[in-house]
Amino acid sequence: MIHYKELGLVNTKDMFKKAMSGGYAIPAYNFNNLEQLQAIIMGCLESKSPVIIQVSKGARDYANQTLLRFLAQGAMEIVKASEHPIPVALHLDHGDSYELCVSCIESGFSSVMIDGSALSYEENVALTKKVVDFAHKYDVTVEGELGVLAGIEDEVSHEKSHYTDPDDVEDFIKRTGVDSLAISIGTSHGAYKFKLKPGEEVPPLRFDILEEIEKRIPDFPIVLHGSSSVLPEYVKIINNNGGDLEGAVGVPEDQLRKAAQSAVCKINIDSDGRLVVTAMIRKEMKDNPKNFDPRKYLGPAREELKKMIIQKNRTVLGSADRA
Ligand SMILES: [Zn+2]
Repeated sequence: MIHYKELGLVNTKDMFKKAMSGGYAIPAYNFNNLEQLQAIIMGCLESKSPVIIQVSKGARDYANQTLLRFLAQGAMEIVKASEHPIPVALHLDHGDSYELCVSCIESGFSSVMIDGSALSYEENVALTKKVVDFAHKYDVTVEGELGVLAGIEDEVSHEKSHYTDPDDVEDFIKRTGVDSLAISIGTSHGAYKFKLKPGEEVPPLRFDILEEIEKRIPDFPIVLHGSSSVLPEYVKIINNNGGDLEGAVGVPEDQLRKAAQSAVCKINIDSDGRLVVTAMIRKEMKDNPKNFDPRKYLGPAREELKKMIIQKNRTVLGSADRA
């Protein structure tokens, strides 16, 4: 067993406390490879933002769990050696079993999500509590989920969303002991968040449900998943360079900014990063057909992703200059 504190990581407790009182949210960016992790760490160091780097089950299957953990460990050495170190949490995104959460905690994760949202309410409570009981022995924080998000994210896929029922939240956090709660108020996983008819606008997030939840559990950290804006400029680059993402649409950034100012303390952004990387690789490959050096297209993709992260931290999350 390696404990996250040995790696220089932090859990989410203090981060969320400061985000709550400061009226901003901590960015949670997913990584699956070296370039994404470099972009996240360099972008957050440059914008002086606390950050949650997160790994999904799919990422562990893709990149190898041991390698991912050592990548994160290596990133921490860069953070520690920098002029202005930032707090970093290493988080499991959408943990689907007790065993997976335990394995992550034992390999140095400082935070885990146990997603029991597809189970019955009582089963969700029981599974979440079991993970919390183990995690808290090691001072690892746990994110639970109530309500179901639509869309596809790695192996998590749901046709329709079910908004979180404010009547459940108080009972859930009391009985499970979770440290934060992911809720469903209209965000969605993936790049096709809303099916819009021509001329139709993106429906606003259900801030009424969020407000009701805040009333029931004041000052409790809330998490939003599926919160990419599906940045139109990158969708355009993809479509102009041989891609086909017609109708891709996300959550407008002003809505996310508004959410960040409330009890929402963590905002998950994955699809936007994927879009940026794909856009730049498509463009570089089309512009430079003679190149066969991966660094020549992965490098610009990494640079653009870093720029996106700095921009998100500054204008959407409000987390820049908070570390
Ligand atoms: Zn998610």
